[in-house]
Amino acid sequence: MLRGVRSRPLKLRNASYTCPICASLNGGQRRYINEYIHKQKDAPRSGLAVKDNFVTSRSFPSSTDSIPTTCASNILRNYHSPFEATVVSHLRQHVPIAGKTNMDEFGMGSHSTHTSFGAVAQASGHSAGGSSGGSAVAVQNGDVEIALGTDTGGSVRLPAAYTGVVGYKPSYGMLSRWGVVPYANSLDTVGLMAKSVGKVREAWEGLYAAGHDERDPTSLGDGARERCESGRDGYGPQSGEKLSQKGLKGLIFGLPLEYNIAELDPAIRDAWIDTARKLQSLGARVIPVSLPSTRHALSAYYVIAPAEASSNLAKYDGIRYGQPGVPNPTQSDAGGDVLYSETRGNNFGEEVKRRILLGSYTLSSEAMDNYFIQAQKVRRLVQRDFDRVFRLRNPLREPETFDLSEMDETIQLENKLGPTEVDFIICPTAPTMPPTLEEVEKQTSVDSYMNDVFTVPASLAGLPAVSVPMSVKGDGVGDNAGLQVIGQYWDDARLLFAAEQVQ
Ligand code: GLN
Repeated sequence: MLRGVRSRPLKLRNASYTCPICASLNGGQRRYINEYIHKQKDAPRSGLAVKDNFVTSRSFPSSTDSIPTTCASNILRNYHSPFEATVVSHLRQHVPIAGKTNMDEFGMGSHSTHTSFGAVAQASGHSAGGSSGGSAVAVQNGDVEIALGTDTGGSVRLPAAYTGVVGYKPSYGMLSRWGVVPYANSLDTVGLMAKSVGKVREAWEGLYAAGHDERDPTSLGDGARERCESGRDGYGPQSGEKLSQKGLKGLIFGLPLEYNIAELDPAIRDAWIDTARKLQSLGARVIPVSLPSTRHALSAYYVIAPAEASSNLAKYDGIRYGQPGVPNPTQSDAGGDVLYSETRGNNFGEEVKRRILLGSYTLSSEAMDNYFIQAQKVRRLVQRDFDRVFRLRNPLREPETFDLSEMDETIQLENKLGPTEVDFIICPTAPTMPPTLEEVEKQTSVDSYMNDVFTVPASLAGLPAVSVPMSVKGDGVGDNAGLQVIGQYWDDARLLFAAEQVQ
């Protein structure tokens, strides 16, 4: 049974105020913007939607209130950050914040139904995808021009596909994660959503230009950035411009055979093939490629992400981030055990608890070797699959030394694991079109993890990927699907320009 699927009644501090963003959706019943934005009288009608796991400190222009950051969790219901996320500070210089958007609690979920604020849904009643579902619907409705989301295993790309908008996950370490509440640090990236690739690119260019952020230890350093850009005809925004002048001529797109799974909706398969034909007609070559480790990627992701999450979420103990609704510790709770278990037991949602238990188990000494270590090995195989098929080599990998001890030699080889193949990979973003919320309610957790099968490989490899709407011949209402374009590490500029041609 999914908790949090039903909307809670709206509690407005100022009842006469109607939130411009929520008003258009089912009379505000299905909320994709968290409660507090309704308190902001001067929230702009258009601008930037910010997923509620980016910390925000200052409020709308003329208000003195600060904007809370809840990650859609009861445990952070009253949390106000003393500082603001780097990307939010950059973007709000150009676009005002219109509101903060509802999401799956701490980013864990694929339908934005695991939230303490009532499930997100599209106006049609279909799933908005998750975990950045609120941001996706805000863009879909035209309430904002650009939205910030986070993508750990697909949380920007899947909602984009389900709602028919563009969702972009940059290369890992490219955009600052300072001020993004961590879910799984080795996978978390900031993501952008808009109606067009052009709009996403415009926002990305500004954030990319800001370069390394010394406050984020996973932000790629200046030296590494230079290395990524050198000798590869420029990897910054200019390289994309060069590509746009040439069009798609000379580019090679790969169709990964392993993505043609039995569960793939035939209408999505047809649309995928139609897109490949379109690319050919625009002058590109399309060839089949093999990414054999893909079939293990999902299992590896669902070991690694919960393991990191269980460690990250240990800090919500009822003391450091407040204790919503929990009585003060008494004399008999000198060790804090009651406070700790009550705070966590009462305030984390079911999916978050499931991940914490799973992660704690796979990190335990008896299970570590069989799960966590194996998953890390699979992750490396997934990365090598991509490096093998891309024409560009991965700038982060050192040339490999092969031990030819049988021949009494070792030899250093160029870290290009196979013949030159493709510039980009194209595949569906999700195997199906969005289910209705009623259908979501009937799904088991594992059913819903399946939605991420095509998005997690790029996440495990840290590669940039963008989902663009793809027209499908379906039954009509709610039939949205996305085409995912994946590029080599730090090839973001060319990726966005290629995606623009596909859209
Ligand atoms: N659905 C995936 C998960 O629940 C991905 C979430 C995300 O990218 N934040 O972990």
